[in-house]
Amino acid sequence: MTDILSPERIAGFCRPAAQQVAVKIVDETGSTNADLLAALPRLTTPTLLIARTQTAGRGRAGRSWLSEAGKSLTFSLAWKFNAPVQSLIGLPLAVGVAIAEALAMFNVSVRLKWPNDVLYQGRKLAGVLIESASAGHVPHEASWAVIGIGINMTVNEQLAAQIGRPVASIPWLAELDQDMLMATLLNALSDALVQFEHEGLGAFTQRWNALHAYTGQAVVILDRGQVLQEGVAVGVDGIGRFVLDTASGRTAIMAGDVSLRVKEN
Ligand code: ATP
Repeated sequence: MTDILSPERIAGFCRPAAQQVAVKIVDETGSTNADLLAALPRLTTPTLLIARTQTAGRGRAGRSWLSEAGKSLTFSLAWKFNAPVQSLIGLPLAVGVAIAEALAMFNVSVRLKWPNDVLYQGRKLAGVLIESASAGHVPHEASWAVIGIGINMTVNEQLAAQIGRPVASIPWLAELDQDMLMATLLNALSDALVQFEHEGLGAFTQRWNALHAYTGQAVVILDRGQVLQEGVAVGVDGIGRFVLDTASGRTAIMAGDVSLRVKEN
């Protein structure tokens, strides 16, 4: 494995939007999202923090993202938007599209599961957790998004058992030049974030729907384990809601902390 991971080498592979990002690499940390959130008051540029090992990775609603040292990509990108926090609803969808488009450069074909998962061969390959914070006052309202991403390269049996849900991994990603791989992801993310700021979610909904894992499939929406809705999956609408056709008509669900599952027969 070409495990160089150097900020200078990563920058060498970056296109203009990504070149403004400060790249930091640490051997080990609890959570790259937690570190960047704590650092926000001191940040002056967009910042990418990569951890070779992450020991307390976070998912949504206090869930965990588990990974093993050197066997996965774990990183967070802090990005400042000249727009209020509310305008970032839908950002997880744009980020999913960016990850999928970056992986497609390596001929890895993934699908997206609303609101924030990346599936490979039907199982979860990557997770996204976005945490945001206000960064200014009216009339110059601004906000920071800290975009945490974990991508599995190798998942051994013990880790898979600990996760307790079907997971995907792509071991040969670890054989690639890791700086080039990270730069490819950073390029796609930076371009997507610039586009999201200028054009909003509208620039991504069609791309997201083309990558949707469950179009036409029977799905359920769960809220703390209880079925909130069930129907046939359609896709996402212009504001990032999940649209499904239920027995009582077409309906749209906001992300919140609901979970989407394929309906088991
Ligand atoms: P949803 O309920 O919408 O499906 P989620 O269960 O995927 O959301 P997230 O907060 O997005 O929840 O991600 C955290 C979850 O991801 C964990 O609860 C665990 O089930 C799963 N998970 C943790 N680590 C990994 C990993 N390395 N690979 C795949 N899945 C993982």
